Amino acid sequence: PEATTPTPMSTVSQYACQRRTTTQNNNKIFTDAFEVLAESHEFNDMEGPCLAFRRAASVLKSLPWTVQNLRVTEDLPCLGEHSMCVIEVRPIVLCLQRANTGGRLLSARRTHPIFTLPLIHSDSPLPRSFLHYGDISRAVSKAEAQALGNIIDEAVHAITPDAILTLTGGFRRGKDFGHDVDFIVTTPQLGKEERLLTSVIDRLKHQGILLYCEYQASTFDESKLPSHRFEAMDHFAKCFLILRLEDSQVDGGLQTAEEDRRGWRAVRVDLVSPPVDRYAFTLLGWSGSRQFERDLRRFARMERRMLLDNHALYDKTKKEFLAATTEKDIFAHLGLEYIEPWQRNA
Ligand code: ATP
Ligand code: MN
Ligand code: MN
Repeated sequence: PEATTPTPMSTVSQYACQRRTTTQNNNKIFTDAFEVLAESHEFNDMEGPCLAFRRAASVLKSLPWTVQNLRVTEDLPCLGEHSMCVIEVRPIVLCLQRANTGGRLLSARRTHPIFTLPLIHSDSPLPRSFLHYGDISRAVSKAEAQALGNIIDEAVHAITPDAILTLTGGFRRGKDFGHDVDFIVTTPQLGKEERLLTSVIDRLKHQGILLYCEYQASTFDESKLPSHRFEAMDHFAKCFLILRLEDSQVDGGLQTAEEDRRGWRAVRVDLVSPPVDRYAFTLLGWSGSRQFERDLRRFARMERRMLLDNHALYDKTKKEFLAATTEKDIFAHLGLEYIEPWQRNA
């Protein structure tokens, strides 16, 4: 659906956690261009401009209308703030000009794709995960994610009948496709969660569907304050998996003719296993999007003097940790309106 009446600009927050962003992007032509610029700056280790472009894209994604006129962007947060870029709006052609370097950056991206394979010496064997590079570089569909959910669900509950399993990541936000499928697994009994994860891995291996596994044991220390750095990974037990998904398990079958002939495809799966009292923080942290997470942490720090990460929320003024059993508790502690998972596609 095309543009309707613009909402007043003053209502658009600079924080993604105060905006509702569904998967319907009315400004894809602009956000794609900004994301290309963000990626090329990231590739060149220019963190500041990279973040600025990501924020600009994120603001445009939240608008329920299409930008038709340059003037409206002057009243939006994170756009043109540093006069870093000029968008010229034309019906078909988008001109993205950045003083001096715009064209150069775009062509740099063309010669340095983000998904470059690491250089491999001819005498070293290919990492086993590379055997499935073709399959896992192709998007996972909702039906495939659903089928994987059934497999993990069966495995988890065969081991621990009262285990808790939750789909998280992009599919929880209502995306139709993803680069992987993310799940949280935990147990109501504190401390049993790590054994659950290793048992699940063993079971998948015995079923013959575990193609590749990188397991990280927990290094979680509950006395530590939440991290200041956004990109810090969490310390819970987790694994990076590649699983074999049979065609017969997927409603409507697999996506490509080659996979159909073969009868199966390889899919990337992430499992993370926090202690149950950290479940809400992990769910909020792993549901994404990355930009939404970044702004949640930035909002907590800048507006509330609080530290938030996937493990905990800490109030620096009161010098105490704030407990939460649901995501709503965390939004409430932060004094934020609750944002549904499908509104977090910032
Ligand atoms: P896609 O559909 O492409 O998979 P996604 O939003 O699911 O998109 P992921 O890379 O799977 O993206 O990550 C999901 C969320 O989990 C992100 O918000 C990311 O910040 C978080 N996350 C992923 N890996 C870790 C990790 N090791 N430690 C902490 N958080 C992580
Ligand atoms: Mn994901
Ligand atoms: Mn993931």
